[in-house]
Amino acid sequence: MNGIVLDQPNAFRFAADLPAPGDLPVGYARVRTKRVGICGTDWHAIAGRQPFFNYPRILGHELGVEVVAVNDPASKLKPGDKCSVEPYMNCGTCIACRRGKGNCCTTLQCLGVHADGGMREEFILPARKLHKSDKLTLDQLALVETLAIGCHAVARAAVEKGECVLILGAGPIGLSVIPFVQAAGGVPIVADVSDSRLAFCRQQMKVATTIDARNDVVAALMALPNSDGQNGELPTCVIDATGNPGSMMACFDRIAPGGRVVYVGLFVGDVTFNDPNFHRREVTLMGSRNALPGDFTRIIKLIEDGVIDTTPWITHRTSAADFVNILPSWQKPEANVLKAIVEF
Ligand SMILES: [Zn+2]
Ligand SMILES: [Zn+2]
Repeated sequence: MNGIVLDQPNAFRFAADLPAPGDLPVGYARVRTKRVGICGTDWHAIAGRQPFFNYPRILGHELGVEVVAVNDPASKLKPGDKCSVEPYMNCGTCIACRRGKGNCCTTLQCLGVHADGGMREEFILPARKLHKSDKLTLDQLALVETLAIGCHAVARAAVEKGECVLILGAGPIGLSVIPFVQAAGGVPIVADVSDSRLAFCRQQMKVATTIDARNDVVAALMALPNSDGQNGELPTCVIDATGNPGSMMACFDRIAPGGRVVYVGLFVGDVTFNDPNFHRREVTLMGSRNALPGDFTRIIKLIEDGVIDTTPWITHRTSAADFVNILPSWQKPEANVLKAIVEF
């Protein structure tokens, strides 16, 4: 069986001799990989910067797949169904899982990160992790997991109709937040240090207001009409998608009293903040990790209904056989990769 193995940092191998998946346990489905999206997690793994990562590893957690076989009496799936994959393998019994928070299961394993993923012809997974659509293209199915990160963050924030939401960072995670703020009836304000990223938000993502984060962000926010249409006030919701500690700590200066801050980007280190500043504003601070099954269902429906437009996303594409050769050109900053797709 063909597949792509990351033997060690920056050392991919196209393998034609991978073992085929074995017998299908009850509750499992066998799927054929059709599309694999590449995201920041993969780039970190490729570069050797991903914490808690073991090599060799088969990457691939943003997946559009086709069902080959199902051994699950509880599943309505049948061979030929096209699905998005929820790649978060949770135990179902720990304290988080018992409370419906399988996205932060105590023994969570993400396919393509902690366990082998979808960069191979076929693999098996629990059938309940497959989310079917008869309408989405295979490309769109692979984008569902990308979008799920933003969907979950906006669900955590409980964005209200008409509410201004400051989104810090216009990388792929920040971009995945934007359509869900819009779908909730909120008004996204995007801040980033890159002119081209901000232009992309205005031109491709229908964001009316962007802020150059190299300048004074608080002053820029004060000059804008905010959640109740008034100037001179800060947003009541801030979603940080930078994974940059300076930006994450600055959230406490950029949020209105009584507001919510959601960290969806992450970095490996400590965040500190001034407690009186936090207390005076009675800020609610939330983390957002991965996504829940309901996020996948919701995204598929929003794309099917035409509420979310996926056309701006895919900028690069290759076949599995060409991937290893084309990768170095994609790693250059001037390649401007937003979402690269590998076709199987
Ligand atoms: Zn990803
Ligand atoms: Zn669990």
